[in-house]
Amino acid sequence: MKTPVFQHMIAPCGMNCGICIGHLRDKNPCGGCFRSDDPNKPKACRSCSIANCTHIDSSMSGFCYDCEKMPCTRLRKLDERYRKNYGMSMLDNLAFIQNKGMAKFLEKEEERWSCQQCGSVVSVHRGNCLNCNAEVIRDRGA
Ligand SMILES: [Zn+2]
Repeated sequence: MKTPVFQHMIAPCGMNCGICIGHLRDKNPCGGCFRSDDPNKPKACRSCSIANCTHIDSSMSGFCYDCEKMPCTRLRKLDERYRKNYGMSMLDNLAFIQNKGMAKFLEKEEERWSCQQCGSVVSVHRGNCLNCNAEVIRDRGA
């Protein structure tokens, strides 16, 4: 059994907000980057220059790959940090969405971030499943 991943949880930078601890926590869960007025949004996300970026307009996909400035410094730094600390890449995600489409990306994310023990969604920010505490295997499907 796997937990579905929803398109509205995919941020402009390619981050899957559904695997963020800010969304998965029990207390005041964040609704994701596209809900810009969400008071439960972590501070770093509320002030994020990507989520608030004016280069992304509604005539485009809403994702950074449509931006002439891609990848901007903020996106490169974010990607670097996540690759190093969490084994995940926003730029890889964006390339995947652009080349293979959102449906395939959601499928891949669902596969990648489902706990192999209990099937609940695991957080990119935690080494263990929040539900059953099983170890999160990071390089799966990467
Ligand atoms: Zn689990």
